[in-house]
Amino acid sequence: MSRHRITDAIRIRSDRTKDREHSSPLYLTSSFAFDDAEQMRATFADENDDYIYSRFSNPSVQEFTDRLAALEGAEDGFATASGMSAIMATFLAFLKQGDHLLCCNAIFGSTHGVITKYLPKYGIGYTYVDGSNPASWEAAVKPNTKMFFLETPTNPGLDIIDLEAAGQLCKKHNLIYNVDNCFATPIGQTPIDFGADLVVHSATKWIDGQGRVLGGAVVGKKELIKDVYLFCRSTGPALSPFNAWVLSRSLETLDVRMERHSSNALHIATALEGHPAISSLKYPFLPSHPQHAIAIRQMKNGGGIVCFELKGGLASGKSFLDKLKMLSLTANLGDTKSIASHPASTTHAKLTDAERAAVNITPGLIRISVGLEHRDDILQDILQALK
Ligand SMILES: *Cc1c(COP(=O)(O)O)cnc(C)c1O
Repeated sequence: MSRHRITDAIRIRSDRTKDREHSSPLYLTSSFAFDDAEQMRATFADENDDYIYSRFSNPSVQEFTDRLAALEGAEDGFATASGMSAIMATFLAFLKQGDHLLCCNAIFGSTHGVITKYLPKYGIGYTYVDGSNPASWEAAVKPNTKMFFLETPTNPGLDIIDLEAAGQLCKKHNLIYNVDNCFATPIGQTPIDFGADLVVHSATKWIDGQGRVLGGAVVGKKELIKDVYLFCRSTGPALSPFNAWVLSRSLETLDVRMERHSSNALHIATALEGHPAISSLKYPFLPSHPQHAIAIRQMKNGGGIVCFELKGGLASGKSFLDKLKMLSLTANLGDTKSIASHPASTTHAKLTDAERAAVNITPGLIRISVGLEHRDDILQDILQALK
């Protein structure tokens, strides 16, 4: 029997030293020294994989990458300074002038910004498709379509996109299948099992889980990660060794944290469903979720995010935030501390009304990132703010 992935996330060490620290040391160094000219020559000639410079690789970063790749069931990975630099690296390492990107329409706000504002500058076109309607995807594939990018569950609408259907489309049309797995984490779902070639992460969210550091990663097929590595080695979005060291320790507890985040979220979603101040509520593992059947097929838990729509739109959304006593108002998600946000007035304020409506971001939408506090305290705070 091969070792379980969550054991690998705890036990993998990539520091290749004989140090006896039980917790792997932090390699806070920008470069690595050589014994002699011959060793230095051989390393620069790629005749061995010794460390050279922390923009290319670093033992603390390598440990984080190896552990995340193990959790995702990926052959290899490369860690980056943030989730956005991971996403950008996958676009720029594989797409060139004249190529076309197929993309589900409900994606993270900054990803939308990159696709619509920056990729066209380099002659890379895109088409958005409705993630909840897989039958509509194929008509958008063009002869020059090179990659299909999607995010599931989506932020902040919590739509679930059929990973298996996307895998089949990518296989049929020979597209690079690229999934942002930030919301589910590898504990909640592993897109590679559904055919994904690349999985990108914002490690800033659930992976860190304590709101301390920014980080990102790309994992996937070895031959593709090689291109991501070569792109990043030249362009420099390297993850800081300190952040990697923090994130690597975070992976040791990701499984137990996500179990509690998810059970707290399910409890809160169940308790709030049908509340008179709420017109609709979404949680992937509630039978009322429009894509519940897909969610339970491809996810191992429902994750830590609950969304609901307040009666009364924009004004009630803002007043709900103002009445909260414990939940934090902050841009992050995936923290030990529960967080409330109102996308229409903040993260998605730059979109037009029509663009927001297309991705189910209604004026009264509230997103709760359910933390690790006692579930009764989280629920009480939400209930008193709904009064
Ligand atoms: C936050 C986030 C990102 C961007 O990650 P950063 O680490 O902030 O750069 C990308 N995708 C999703 C789904 C996110 O929530």
